[in-house]
Amino acid sequence: MSAPFRNDRLEAFHFPPGMQVFERGWLSSNCVLFEDEAGATLIDSGYVTHADQTMALVLHAIEGHATPRLRRVINTHLHSDHCGGNALLARRTRCDIVIPEGNSYGVRHWDQRFLTFVATGQHCDRFDFTDTISAGDVLTLGGQEWEALAAPGHDVDSVMFHCEDEGILISGDAIWEDGCGAMFPTANPKTLDEDFSAAFETLQLVEAIDVRVIVPGHGRPFTDVEGALDRVRSRLRRMSADHSWNGRHVVKVLLKYRLLDDRRMSVETVRTMFREVPTIAYANRDIGLPPSVLADRTMDDLVRVGAARRDGDWLLDA
Ligand SMILES: [Zn+2]
Repeated sequence: MSAPFRNDRLEAFHFPPGMQVFERGWLSSNCVLFEDEAGATLIDSGYVTHADQTMALVLHAIEGHATPRLRRVINTHLHSDHCGGNALLARRTRCDIVIPEGNSYGVRHWDQRFLTFVATGQHCDRFDFTDTISAGDVLTLGGQEWEALAAPGHDVDSVMFHCEDEGILISGDAIWEDGCGAMFPTANPKTLDEDFSAAFETLQLVEAIDVRVIVPGHGRPFTDVEGALDRVRSRLRRMSADHSWNGRHVVKVLLKYRLLDDRRMSVETVRTMFREVPTIAYANRDIGLPPSVLADRTMDDLVRVGAARRDGDWLLDA
């Protein structure tokens, strides 16, 4: 059903029948589709501006099958690049929306104190949920048992999905082949250290369970779990030891993300963003620069690494 991929040792790994991975480009997370007699389940739904594409991918994948119906969407966590298709998919297909238990209050009331969209300057269409998922819940996906595991760190409420029989882990942003999701400071300066501790514990959990292949939230699936654990740990160690380095990484991620969305931003818009987006202000607690200076330096940083281009008073995506 899904194309085999080659891992670093050049052995082909086949996902079980009924499981299909859509590796997406940036702005959208990867999506994983499971099909069984009960209908299809989609893990994560990408970014809002790609929602039509997500819808098309799902419909194309399930058409002609025995039960060509999207039954539910389940989110690993509620960052805008993982749940941006929820609203459209629910509206068009009437599928269930299943979110991590910890996000239920925030979504029910669409309360931005508990959701990250406004804090990070990103967008997500409002959606409702029909059910929640908690660590320890066991789901049948594509005819196999998958257990939800808590994955706090990058996001305190996030979950991963593990199929012990197949040795597959859907890891969200807890671990990628070469890193993990950014560690965002919040209004409470104490949470960052707690989040780092939780992130290390989540990696310990990944190490303790039987995982032969990881399907990350971004990038290709991979089998070198040990190597990825080493790389993520050394990255997290560096970020946790130096919050200012972490903060500079966070603001670069947020600016690049916005640039992917907008394609081009005037320098003035970037400076306004750096004055107004709360997470940038939180990160700047550890950096300590005037917002406009931080904006200018971050633009220079992106240009230096080839992630952006400067054209007069404009910053362009690259
Ligand atoms: Zn995330």
